[in-house]
Amino acid sequence: MFEDPTMTREMYDDLPEESDAKEFYAKYEPKEVLGRGLSSVVRRCVRKTDLQEFAVKIIDVTEQSWTEDRDSVMKEVTILQMVSRNANIIQLVDVFECTTFIFLVFELIKGGELFDYLTEVVELSERETRFVMRQLFEVVKFLHDLNIVHRDLKPENILIQGKLEIKVSDFGFAVRLKEEQLLKELCGTPGYLAPEVLKCSMIDGFAGYGKEVDMWACGVIMYTLLAGQPPFWHRKQMMLLRNIMEGNYNFDGPEWEDISHTSKDLIAHLLIVDPKNRFTAEQALQHPFFESIEYAVWAEKRLRKSRSPRKTPSEKGKFDAKSKFKAAIAAVCATQRLQAGLNRQQVLTFKTMAEDPYRVRGIRRVIDGCAFRIYGHWVKKGEDQNRAALFENFPKRDATKNANVSKTWV
Ligand code: ADP
Ligand code: MG
Repeated sequence: MFEDPTMTREMYDDLPEESDAKEFYAKYEPKEVLGRGLSSVVRRCVRKTDLQEFAVKIIDVTEQSWTEDRDSVMKEVTILQMVSRNANIIQLVDVFECTTFIFLVFELIKGGELFDYLTEVVELSERETRFVMRQLFEVVKFLHDLNIVHRDLKPENILIQGKLEIKVSDFGFAVRLKEEQLLKELCGTPGYLAPEVLKCSMIDGFAGYGKEVDMWACGVIMYTLLAGQPPFWHRKQMMLLRNIMEGNYNFDGPEWEDISHTSKDLIAHLLIVDPKNRFTAEQALQHPFFESIEYAVWAEKRLRKSRSPRKTPSEKGKFDAKSKFKAAIAAVCATQRLQAGLNRQQVLTFKTMAEDPYRVRGIRRVIDGCAFRIYGHWVKKGEDQNRAALFENFPKRDATKNANVSKTWV
């Protein structure tokens, strides 16, 4: 395996010894690192028989690994095997076990994380957000119908390929609930934690939480996609937690000025402190945010394009009444939308530019984009808001290997 000229010796660092994992190495050749977790490294790998590429998540299950144990990884595998048939969930292809590591081989998703895409573009348009959120709600509905809670939905765990087609990944915290079962374990990533998860570790005798936590995380994701910054952040962690528990967020920033009321309304139905009143995935999918005909046509086209091969010139030439009709509707809707957009758009004057250039959307995007490229995640936008919050990952599991021992991070 050290013979590949495209790989340097450092690229092989922290790879398990060949003698430890003969079965994996017999079938696959590991390549460069794609991503890292606390106890796992994800690498590209190539199947030796047909040179097809995959991604392998190599999980350390030795005693030194304080975040993972064999049982919890095998639970992740069981859930992945149940859900892998969904086109928007990462496909698990192979599993190998040895004494120190477990290797999970997945389909390779080349588009990277939704998080990286967001970092690059700063914020998504409402249309792109719709496209991503519809797929995400459909995945969540699929999981919840199976009584599975993901518990770590965030842009880092959503991979993208083609034209923003999503693949939900990282089922490390996922659990399948028994009827009416409530959970108590504090796990997830701070900015995405639902209030009831926090209350579990703060209020003695609190009953627990259920599937609704995923819908809260969807609300945080949707807000973040549209605004380019998270709804809850404070440099003092106690304040961050308080804001989450009180559902204390707002749409006040200049980035919200151009965003429709419908989008805000859907977010407002997701970021509801009482889980009983929070939208379910099914309710979210029925929200007017997804109702536009123009969007439906656009989304269908986009999905079809990214999933099916291109048409040959002779196929392209054929008259297709259905798609012509759809295109006509799309054109009318697009014109109307454009008109509405123009009416809403801020008039650019020297005065606005001199007094508050950041309020002008185009300028804001350029400023954010440049600053982001230079300073990475340390770009401050306001007194106490910081895009770094997007990057603040929380260790995989608060409770150590023993799920009953709750070592909180607060
Ligand atoms: P962890 O549980 O350690 O967070 P993840 O399963 O989230 O591990 O994987 C870590 C990172 O590795 C992901 O955020 C992503 O960047 C990359 N990754 C994971 N699976 C794949 C895949 N199938 N294809 C491409 N990249 C992947
Ligand atoms: Mg992850």
